[in-house]
Amino acid sequence: MKLYNTLTRKKDEFKPITPKKVKMYVCGPTVYNYFHIGNGRTFIVFDTIRRYFQYRGYEVEFIQNFTDIDDKMINKAKDENTTVKEIGDKYISEYYKDADALNIKRATVNPRATEYIEDIIDFVKTLIEKRFAYEIDGDVYFSTKKFDSYGKLSGQNLENLQAGARINVDERKKDPMDFAIWKTQKPGEPAWKSPWGMGRPGWHIECSCMVKKLLGDTIDIHAGGMDLSFPHHENEIAQSESLTGKPFANYWLHSAFVNINNQKMSKSLNNFFTARDILKEYDADVVRFLMLSAHYRIQLNFSKELLDSAKSSMERLYNTVSNLENLLDEITKQNLDNEEENYLNSLDKYRDKYIEKMDDDFNTADAISVLFELSKDVNTNIDIYSSKELVKKALELVRELGEPLGILQKTTKISLEDEIEALIEARQNARKNKNFAMSDKIRDDLKARGIMLEDTAQGVRWKKN
Ligand code: AMP
Ligand code: ZN
Repeated sequence: MKLYNTLTRKKDEFKPITPKKVKMYVCGPTVYNYFHIGNGRTFIVFDTIRRYFQYRGYEVEFIQNFTDIDDKMINKAKDENTTVKEIGDKYISEYYKDADALNIKRATVNPRATEYIEDIIDFVKTLIEKRFAYEIDGDVYFSTKKFDSYGKLSGQNLENLQAGARINVDERKKDPMDFAIWKTQKPGEPAWKSPWGMGRPGWHIECSCMVKKLLGDTIDIHAGGMDLSFPHHENEIAQSESLTGKPFANYWLHSAFVNINNQKMSKSLNNFFTARDILKEYDADVVRFLMLSAHYRIQLNFSKELLDSAKSSMERLYNTVSNLENLLDEITKQNLDNEEENYLNSLDKYRDKYIEKMDDDFNTADAISVLFELSKDVNTNIDIYSSKELVKKALELVRELGEPLGILQKTTKISLEDEIEALIEARQNARKNKNFAMSDKIRDDLKARGIMLEDTAQGVRWKKN
């Protein structure tokens, strides 16, 4: 498997630290609002990568944090006249609702930064002891000059970074590129007791600390949105490698933005759609299809037209599922004959091609094309004269290749309950319209299927004989 590594700026062969295991950390949301579909893309992309590793037989330890203390959280708590903790609790539970609805698998652990304050303090203490960090009036800064390879992720040296960066001017810092790892309390802010007085952690140190606590000194993959590579990830590397003296992450993966009119979708620009609102109109399969129809390192310019076209593509794929599901009900021939066996074997080429595409830096766009090729082949070659075994195997293959993408897992069959409820409603309407022939027919048809209707004071009940 090859993956594009931001650290080496090329596609590297994936070599796990422990055979067949992946330790993976993804920077998660700041929980002060519902997430938008830009954030959603990042979550969907790394969920897909995680699923694909599992599909290829890896055991994945997948950590995605919640940033539950920072300026945005504090401001939101002020606006809503509540505590930062309450805001965090609320939007974490809302995160799970939307992520579950998007078919994003739950992480192995979703650590909250505020649950690691003691460990963060120890981390900061050690960095000071090792002279990588210094304290001034209750603030602690990381000294970028002390870390020789600072800038290696962004591929720049300190001088270039300094010239290009928009850095907050803080006279007290020894160097403008130094960054805060502990911040002294401002009036009204939540704070924790530390050797440097009451304060709170900086954002970068939280991730460094949670990675170390949950996954260890060196991990396989560290990931996040493209905007995080500098300074967030650069600073995480500096802190962690200074502390442990070991490489922090072997592979760095960054996913590209969702844009609106060629501008990054973001809460601050107010040009966003929440995942929740989109899911009111479109199915999770459609949203995932849209996000995965472009390679994860290519920006996606979001529009409703694009969503609609994803919707019709997804309908085409589900038509295949529906055809196969219906055939399974109707077909009488049971076992494969020789010709069918050969045909079934020929379908393996789609799996091979799919794996080849996904093994090449998770090319989901091409993997989706393979799904369409498979679907076309199956639609042309499988019909009512095929055997049940063949139909079943073809359907399994469609679902198998859909699973890492988190699509095509649903059934197109209406459940018995839904079907009967719909028929009961149709019967009530027929009665209202005095179409008794129709209402009697519905009742008799159901009776023939062993479903008895009973008119009660609470409405119509049904039971199966
Ligand atoms: P935040 O809640 O802003 O901390 O972001 C959570 C995750 O979403 C991070 O990995 C960001 O890099 C990512 N992200 C933020 N905006 C976008 C966007 N417009 N497109 C794709 N990913 C984004
Ligand atoms: Zn992070």
